[in-house]
Amino acid sequence: MNAKNKKMNSLIAILLLLTTYSSCDKDQNVGINSKTQEKKVVIIGAGVSGLAAAKHLKKKGIDVLVLEAQDKTGGRLKTDRSLGVAFDEGASWIHGPEGNPITSLASSAGAETFLTDDFNVKVYDQNGSEYSSKILSTAENQYNRKIFRINGAEDQSFGNAFYSKYPQYQNDRLWTYMLSAYLEFDTGGDLFKLSSTYFYDDEEFDGDDVIITNGFDKITNYLAQDIDIRLNNKVHSIDYSNEKTIITTNKGEYEADYVLVTVPLGVLKKNIITFIPSLPEETQNTIDNLDMGSVNKFLFTWDAPFWDNDLQYIGYTPEQRGKFNLFMNVGKFTSANALITFAFGDYSKETEQMSDAQITEEVMVHLKAIYGNDIPNPTNMLRTKWNTNEYTFGSYSFATNGTTGESFEVFEEPINDKIFFAGEHTIVDYRGTVHGAYLSGVREAKNIIKLLK
Ligand SMILES: Cc1cc2nc3c(=O)[nH]c(=O)nc-3n(C[C@H](O)[C@H](O)[C@H](O)COP(=O)(O)OP(=O)(O)OC[C@H]3O[C@@H](n4cnc5c(N)ncnc54)[C@H](O)[C@@H]3O)c2cc1C
Repeated sequence: MNAKNKKMNSLIAILLLLTTYSSCDKDQNVGINSKTQEKKVVIIGAGVSGLAAAKHLKKKGIDVLVLEAQDKTGGRLKTDRSLGVAFDEGASWIHGPEGNPITSLASSAGAETFLTDDFNVKVYDQNGSEYSSKILSTAENQYNRKIFRINGAEDQSFGNAFYSKYPQYQNDRLWTYMLSAYLEFDTGGDLFKLSSTYFYDDEEFDGDDVIITNGFDKITNYLAQDIDIRLNNKVHSIDYSNEKTIITTNKGEYEADYVLVTVPLGVLKKNIITFIPSLPEETQNTIDNLDMGSVNKFLFTWDAPFWDNDLQYIGYTPEQRGKFNLFMNVGKFTSANALITFAFGDYSKETEQMSDAQITEEVMVHLKAIYGNDIPNPTNMLRTKWNTNEYTFGSYSFATNGTTGESFEVFEEPINDKIFFAGEHTIVDYRGTVHGAYLSGVREAKNIIKLLK
């Protein structure tokens, strides 16, 4: 095909896209005023935030289209069932289920839940001896007090501030375990990148966490019903310099009055989407300064359990922070003989360069220290690589040293009343969570609706 023909063909493709989009969505508008009917909203990203916004807008009769880069919806709600058990690569728990919007959504979507008991845990030292429940509960009580007493400076990392105040814990493996399996897991951030001042300034819903046992993707599949979603459309640029905003993807161009950008902070940080004109300085600085955490998950299966199948969690205290220090017994809530372990912080990034065999070997060193050298190798494994995943570049956002909790609020301001942001990184109170992402989507849908009144 010659160059001229190629250009002509892509022009036709663009026209077709624009026409198909206008005609198919207009049919779905019912009982709305003409101003609403004329306006088009394009949402970038079909994760929980984008789908929540789309659902809300569609309910109000607004013409909405979702562009998604991947061949699936759900974003970080991603379930792999290839080993016969629902392995959630991203979110697993509804944190604080009471009053949490995800609780009722889960029930409508047919997602089943199980209350994971955080106190049903045994923690082991490197020689395989178990920390007594007295030692563990005393250490946890101290941990819960001391992490809030470090009085770090705004530009100081948590790790730096904590170990300056409590140097005695620098080489204490039980403390290393708690600071990693609890704090790095919760916040997503490596201890030495996490803000010492704003590490826990967000809010929580009440109630003990429940895990979804048959796959978190049930929720996004449910939200995606009846929404016009164009998969395999990776957005490259958003030109909002004229009255109508033009969004360019690998498949062509789309036109919108309002654009809701829900791609993860990691994608914004890599400048994968070019904004024309550039984003305001404050927004760009916030994107540069906040960070994406790194949490990876590893599922291992066996023919039969060699661990106490009544236990919910098994803790281990290696010298290296973030290294396979927590195991969740999947057999506690399914019929699978499986454990899920995790890597946190900088070590989590390292795992992405390791082969499956290397990972298995390292994990088995920890399990053998606890259960003896005779335990069998796993039959299968699944793993994640969130840090190098081109659709996220990280697991979830966190406040780095030098940023504040309020930094996240910059995303609540629309740009020229045309560009809006939603996603877990845009909601200071519930950042890094599914419910935060969901609530941010509803918030921005309402903000767009306000402009239509
Ligand atoms: C390992 C891990 C464990 C977690 N555990 C929990 C948990 O237990 N409980 C909890 O509440 N939260 C948890 N979270 C966080 C939770 O998963 C996220 O906060 C939430 O799913 C984010 O939703 P979102 O809509 O903001 O982003 P996403 O789900 O990431 O959606 C963004 C979408 O944008 C798309 N996209 C990216 N680039 C482009 C582009 N250029 N063009 C078009 N589309 C694009 C992506 O493909 C994606 O579908 C966890 C996350 C991870 C990674």
